[in-house]
Parts: sequence; C-alpha cells; structure tokens
Amino acid sequence: MMLLKPHEPAPYRLQNEDLQAPAVLICDHAGRYIPEKLNQLGLNGEDLEKHIAYDIGSAQLTDFLSKDLNLPAIYCDYSRLVIDVNRKPGIADSIPEISDQVHIPGNKNLQEAEIHARQNEIFWPYHERVTQLIEQTEKHDPDCLLLFVHSFTPTLNGAPRPWEMGLLWVGVNQDVDQFAACQRDLHPDINLGLNEPYDGFGGCYFSLYEYTFVKKRRYLVIEVRQDLISSSDGVKKMGKILSSTLKEAFFRKT
Ligand SMILES: [Zn+2]
Repeated sequence: MMLLKPHEPAPYRLQNEDLQAPAVLICDHAGRYIPEKLNQLGLNGEDLEKHIAYDIGSAQLTDFLSKDLNLPAIYCDYSRLVIDVNRKPGIADSIPEISDQVHIPGNKNLQEAEIHARQNEIFWPYHERVTQLIEQTEKHDPDCLLLFVHSFTPTLNGAPRPWEMGLLWVGVNQDVDQFAACQRDLHPDINLGLNEPYDGFGGCYFSLYEYTFVKKRRYLVIEVRQDLISSSDGVKKMGKILSSTLKEAFFRKT
C-alpha cells in the first residue's frame, strides 16, 4: 500500500535545476503538505499553519534567492510533521509525537510499515535528488557552496529571540567568516546571530552532516526570523539583503 496518491506532490520540487552555478540552495522545511491518507495527522488547520509544520517563509525566500542569484534550488513540500527530512530516520524527532507542546495524534503508535512508507516515499527520494543536484553542480564547480535555508520562530518557550538572521556551523568555516564580514559592511543594522538561535552542532541535523561533514563540502546554514519573511514584502526585503551579501562575499565577478 502506497502512502502517496498519484496526484499528490512529488517528494521534491526543483527550480533552475539545469543552471551551471557556483552554489545550490536546499530548503528542507519548505512546505506543510500532509498526505491525504494521514487525515491531517489528527491536527486542526490552525496547528498546521504554525511553525511546527514548516519553516514559515523559507520557500519564498529560497525562491527569491534562486531567481535573483540564478542558482538551482531544491525544496521538500511535505510537512516536517510527516517526516522531518533534516533528521536522521529512526530518531524520535524524525516523526515527532509532540512538537513545541503540540501533541501529534497521527504520529503515535505507528506500525513499522507506516514509518517505512514515510521514509521510502518522502525522505529517501528527496535526499537522492538533493545528492544528484549537488553532484551535477559539482561537475562544473567542484568547490560549489551549499546554502541551506531555514527560518526560526521569534520566541521559543516564552524567550524572545532578538536576532534577525543567524548562521549555524561547526568548527572552522571560512565562508561563515566571509559572509559575516560582508554583512557587517553592507548591512550593519541587521542583527546577525553567530551560531544563534542555536548552534550547528548535533548529530540530528541530517542534511548538514550528510552533505557537508561527510563529504567536506563548503556550506552556509542561513536562518531567518519568521516574522520578517511572513509577507511578500518581507521576503523581498530580507531576500535583497541576503542576496547582496552573498553576491559580495562569493559571487562577485572580478
Ligand atoms: Zn528548518
């Protein structure tokens, strides 16, 4: 029995995938689609519009950057409540039973076959396509940069998060230094969190681990605060800021 019906979205969506570019955009938490067979996971529509279901604004921001910088992009349109494509399969966070205090009835007491269906029809096909996209881009630029785009909630457990943008990494990352220096020059007014609102360390971040630590690729994990990209004006504003910094730091033609 398949989980996804033929008319439902593919486990990945691509944009500009045939461009020869110096970077690839990866948007793991782009969407909040739930397969029909899962009956909204037992949640109401309101819960499914919240940050627990997806990274608000991240798909639109990735879109903006892909178009403005002519970069290939890949998105997962399935909600991270179905299966989180940025968590290692099998760990508790992969298919969360509770997320930011909201219980997810449709994720409790799952049979092994139900878990495997989510892995085999969403998680693995998405990551196989991400791998292909990166390898295809590396044929033209072996040193290409991976840009992971996420967004974070303005408050978590009551604590406000003042940063407007954050970069996450582990160890030494010269691209982070380069980005931060250019951002300070061009946009000194932006509150840029360095390894804030959380740090890049933790084996649970599947994509970062899989595509960069194992293969030693260059990367930036960019986090933008959700309230700043929840409208199209906001996306445009933050998109332009990010795009100008990325251009100056990495894509300037000399
Ligand atoms: Zn995310």
